[in-house]
Amino acid sequence: MPLPADYHTHNALCRHATGQPTEYAARAAQLGLPEIGMSDHNPMPRDDFDDWRMRLDQLDEYVAGVEQARREHPTLAVKLALEVDYLPGGEDWIRDLAARHPWDYLIGSVHYVAEGWDLDNPNKVAEWKRREPFEVWTAYFERLTQAAGSGLFDIIGHADLAKKFCFYPNRDCTALYRGFLEAAKRRGAAIELNTAGLRKDCKEIYPSRYLLQMASQAGVLITFGSDAHAPEEVGLNFAEAVELARSTGYTHCCRFSRRRAEYVRF
Ligand code: ZN
Ligand code: FE
Ligand code: FE
Ligand code: ZN
Repeated sequence: MPLPADYHTHNALCRHATGQPTEYAARAAQLGLPEIGMSDHNPMPRDDFDDWRMRLDQLDEYVAGVEQARREHPTLAVKLALEVDYLPGGEDWIRDLAARHPWDYLIGSVHYVAEGWDLDNPNKVAEWKRREPFEVWTAYFERLTQAAGSGLFDIIGHADLAKKFCFYPNRDCTALYRGFLEAAKRRGAAIELNTAGLRKDCKEIYPSRYLLQMASQAGVLITFGSDAHAPEEVGLNFAEAVELARSTGYTHCCRFSRRRAEYVRF
């Protein structure tokens, strides 16, 4: 059985990844993946927002890099996408970005749960120690639910990123998951199986088997992503992700072209 497309990859423009889009495409071709999506971190209106994304004046260079990957790997489907930070009140900026290029899909991700706090930032783990994990998870899923319900995104990224550093809540999160999945289902947003979690402290794919089972029962669609920040991470642990998806009842995943979904067996 061929592996599914890898729809979540980065490159050197975001300043914490290595390699050019064409090198990620080369790796995908070498692995025999049918398709790869480039989804680097979106620029913000102000370049001093943080230090882990491309500058706004680099957006065209990014798109040119993806076009180069297409030219140099003509037998591989190379998709043009972005991983976009969802911030409440940032919707107009996301619409602006969405209109700038012919994106195949947009991944909506929540990293920021409060002003200045990106909860997955290893330099800010101290913030976690000041808070109750359940409060953070609640804030995280409230934003994720807003992101899913905004209709701005085709895919919601790493849907339980809050587990990254193992600050687990001591209360049941089922209601948080349910609200999020209802919003995703209503707006037709897919969620991704993101294998980067396996490379973090939590040592688990995002999202958990429990959340994925709920998603499957709710009829929420899926994609697969490695969240590669280096070319050699493309497609990493996809066999395990496919196994997890199958064991929770999935047989199909989504592919996107110019923001229209198609369903393919994996
Ligand atoms: Zn990144
Ligand atoms: Fe992310
Ligand atoms: Fe990412
Ligand atoms: Zn990511």
